[in-house]
Amino acid sequence: MKISVVGSGYVGLVTGTCFAETGITVTCVDIDKKKIDDLKNGIIPIYEPGLDDMVKRNVDKGRLFFTTSLKESLADAEVVFIAVGTPPDEDGSADLKYVTGVAREVGTYMDRYIVVVTKSTVPVGTSHKVKKAVQEELSKRNVSIPFDVASNPEFLKEGNAIEDFLKPDRIVCGVESDQAKSILEKLYKPFVLNGHPILFMDIASSELTKYAANAMLATKISFMNDIASLCELVGADVNWVRKGIGSDTRIGNKFIYPGAGYGGSCFPKDVKALIKTSDENGHSLKILKAVEDVNDRQKEVLFHKLNKHFAGNLKGKKIALWGLSFKPNTDDMREAPALVIIEKLIEAGATVRAYDPVAMEESMRRIGNVVEYAKDAYDATIDADALVLVTEWSEFRIINYPMLNKLMRNKVVVDGRNIYDPQEMNENGFKYYCIGKRPLA
Ligand code: NAD
Repeated sequence: MKISVVGSGYVGLVTGTCFAETGITVTCVDIDKKKIDDLKNGIIPIYEPGLDDMVKRNVDKGRLFFTTSLKESLADAEVVFIAVGTPPDEDGSADLKYVTGVAREVGTYMDRYIVVVTKSTVPVGTSHKVKKAVQEELSKRNVSIPFDVASNPEFLKEGNAIEDFLKPDRIVCGVESDQAKSILEKLYKPFVLNGHPILFMDIASSELTKYAANAMLATKISFMNDIASLCELVGADVNWVRKGIGSDTRIGNKFIYPGAGYGGSCFPKDVKALIKTSDENGHSLKILKAVEDVNDRQKEVLFHKLNKHFAGNLKGKKIALWGLSFKPNTDDMREAPALVIIEKLIEAGATVRAYDPVAMEESMRRIGNVVEYAKDAYDATIDADALVLVTEWSEFRIINYPMLNKLMRNKVVVDGRNIYDPQEMNENGFKYYCIGKRPLA
């Protein structure tokens, strides 16, 4: 079987590579010439554990190709996946110009039956727009070539993308023909040998499932962050509350960790887009609006803790910051809480010296020299008045107290992920702030 994957970012590149791993021939397409040139030269444009080796292996085996030409990728392809970005428009709705643009190109170049699968996260009704766009281009060409559209949202997590793709909890496919269903069934068979299901459904339900999943996860996070704020006010410890509720199997213990707010390329934009879809349909998703408000507030919580500690006088203070990416194991900084904290600290007159194991280059690209970049975690803390942990990379988990004691000017730690032990911090002479628990006296 041969397929084309259009868009070679986090989703497209992982999708294409994992399909190639099953033995089929995959051509990954992108309009970004540099990205494609890099990929052809074995340079992987994103940080995703395990991806380098897998790309190399499949290229060497002659199963994985890269091109900027969608036309070329369609030759003999039975399926084309659309995996381009769907960034938020000004009003919060998903901007579909890249998706429909690809659909038009498919209509322009296809010369035999093909299934056009939308893998990008798109609002309900998009697959119909894709169908219309393909059809319009075929009509312009005065040809009648049968095709199907399908929806196949992606649930992978950056940082664990390969594992998620190879061993998915479930695969969701929205289809409207038996032919499309059987082609997708064949394509995904190697990934469900673990017994997890392929859920075939109508296209609208499939499109909505993706948003509902992300909205539910964002809701869990904001709920816990809200409870954490209450814990601090009433003198409770959110870690105990989390364990107490998480051991109830109806609730579960995943995604209920309080922190510095959710970020990344998906939750913020998908929550916004779902609110917009709902508003457009005359229904106000009140819960999700609150989820967004709580998250906006939470992204400032670490700043407020610092500001309070220094009695509103952050001017001239040196702040060490550990972690720039929105979560560990990725270099993605889209909507990262670190960006909000940095902005507020700079606004207050502080200087920031940051370290991240992989996202420094990305940070440089995004915010340039607004912060100083340290060569390692402890280099960031030299003469610091406080250390803020924003992203819980493994290498930050165990603190070298003697080193930190020697390097920092002031012994203050603000832990945005609750990874340190308050008692231990105290014993080592640090004033320690975390989320959802009052600092020890
Ligand atoms: P990305 O920005 O990393 O990649 C998108 C790629 O598409 C870019 O390389 C861009 O150059 C390319 N592109 C744009 N227009 C093109 C065109 N006309 N032809 C060819 N290539 C084109 O985005 P991503 O993070 O991979 O996300 C893609 C979609 O998947 C989004 O809808 C996103 O919401 C969804 N999604 C993302 C994740 C995630 O963790 N990143 C997870 C699940 C779903």
